Amino acid sequence: MHIKTLLNHVTKFKGFVFQNPQLCRRSNKLLIPVVPRKNSKPICSRCGQPGSAYDHLQQRQFFLPPIWNIMVVLVYTMRRVDCRFCGKVIVEQVPWSTGKSPVTKQFAAFLAFWARKLSWKETAVSFRVSWDIVADAVTWVVQWGLTHRNLENVTAIGVDEIQYHGGHNYLTLVYQIDKHCRRLLWIGKERKKKTLHAFCDFMGEQRCKAIEFVCSDMWKAYIKVIADRLSDAVHILDRFHIVGNLNKAVDEVRRSEVKKLKDDGKPAYLKNSRWLFLKKKKRIRGTARTRLREILGMNLRTVKAYLFKEDFDHLWTYKSTTWASTFIDEWTRDVMRHRSLPELKKFARTIRQHKELILNYFRAKKEFSSGIVEGFNNKAKLTIRKSYGFRSDKLREIALYHTLGNLPVPELTHRFV
Ligand SMILES: [Zn+2]
Repeated sequence: MHIKTLLNHVTKFKGFVFQNPQLCRRSNKLLIPVVPRKNSKPICSRCGQPGSAYDHLQQRQFFLPPIWNIMVVLVYTMRRVDCRFCGKVIVEQVPWSTGKSPVTKQFAAFLAFWARKLSWKETAVSFRVSWDIVADAVTWVVQWGLTHRNLENVTAIGVDEIQYHGGHNYLTLVYQIDKHCRRLLWIGKERKKKTLHAFCDFMGEQRCKAIEFVCSDMWKAYIKVIADRLSDAVHILDRFHIVGNLNKAVDEVRRSEVKKLKDDGKPAYLKNSRWLFLKKKKRIRGTARTRLREILGMNLRTVKAYLFKEDFDHLWTYKSTTWASTFIDEWTRDVMRHRSLPELKKFARTIRQHKELILNYFRAKKEFSSGIVEGFNNKAKLTIRKSYGFRSDKLREIALYHTLGNLPVPELTHRFV
């Protein structure tokens, strides 16, 4: 079988034909010359209309996915079109090219496919291209996906925030959390009111009206905009974020007590105990469990806060909204009685203030469990950590959409991967 036959089997470019390939043994490249089909007219890259050829540019090389560890390179001399619609001479459009990049659409899709499984760096090394080429490939595929994705039928969303640059900056991420489709929908800078307004503008009034459920944390800016712009939706303060805030409050109690014990010259009972109090009791085993039991026997503020935290976990077991409501009332009342726990009291006050939105979680029959947003949040964090070297906001967003966006991929990919 000829290599040409093989090529025609996996990909065909309308208006162009492959010529006999040559193997360059020195560079381990398979060079495949491509020429325009007889009488075919070049297409203007600006307006997409055919025109007559004006002149030729320099020969260019375009990379296809490698076979048997051999680089496969299309060699083509670009024409310029004398376009009567645009009224000037414009470079032609070729079906395999993604623009100025030497990577074909086929290779871009191939690299992007692997860049979801490997890191960008590993992908570059594995397929012997530069890191920039992988970045360009992923960018092209993501942009293709963003323009071709369907934004209809979004009825449930989760709003989440994520820190980057060592915690100094925030991104707001909006996920679609419908049963039929879960994906990252949108990324915005910071976590201000204007951030979420920008999301609503992006979706448009019609699509915003279709949204029935919104999950978010207790961040004021979000709550305000959701009440404002997504007023038809049931707003749910989700479990994942509430538990996160409670853990934070308990840790604040612990930290201030560690300092107090030290200042008073007392033994460091709580040294290195952070995770003991953050983990669920039933998940702690072995010597850690013994240590926790010892600490729990002491008269410490942290212990009180911890016991309140463990108790709060009961909330999520209720099926009835009424019972959940009573539980919140009682729990917050008990916390408010403890003058020694200002950090936890602050948390209890917010819980009281947003009780109705928390109860929406039970009204929605817990359909939007914390697991969905939490899962996305973990994956997003991992992507940000992996992409730490990017230093470019745009590439960070591209990486997030690439891993979490569940984007459609160009038709041409499946024949290569
Ligand atoms: Zn034109």
